[in-house]
Amino acid sequence: MIKILETFSPEETEQLGETLGREALPGQVFSLDGDLGAGKTVFTRGFARGLGIMEHVTSPTFTILNMYSGRIPLYHFDVYRISCEEEMEEIGYEEYFYADGVCLVEWACLIPGLMPADSIRISMERDLEKGEDYRRITIRQEGRA
Ligand code: ADP
Ligand code: MG
Repeated sequence: MIKILETFSPEETEQLGETLGREALPGQVFSLDGDLGAGKTVFTRGFARGLGIMEHVTSPTFTILNMYSGRIPLYHFDVYRISCEEEMEEIGYEEYFYADGVCLVEWACLIPGLMPADSIRISMERDLEKGEDYRRITIRQEGRA
């Protein structure tokens, strides 16, 4: 499955996150890739709202992992600052990836060996010719038509 969407404001990206959060299922792992400021955290904020989470979501850049309880638990990773995959093992990532919550992983491209094969991969790109606030959002999932 591959889907390409376009958003023209942070609100629209947040709305897209909310829609996917509403549909999320226990055990799903999402990767979120794109440059700094691409909109990964904005997307996650909406996703959390879609899960019924009222808390304000910020990037766990220094803590690597934030957890929220909603309709199903949300495990929000930001692996930008980890230096190797072993560090994820120290955090015990498997307990979260292979459990009944839903995981969102910002900068998943830095831990390619750990991402489950059936992850839903979301990448966000700017295109300055289309304006400051334009984002192209590509959603891929292997093995899904
Ligand atoms: P990341 O987590 O990818 O580093 P953030 O989500 O923290 O990025 O920040 C994205 C920034 O880009 C925010 O300041 C947001 O207001 C801005 N922005 C502008 N247009 C968009 C858009 N279409 N989608 C998401 N964010 C946008
Ligand atoms: Mg972020």
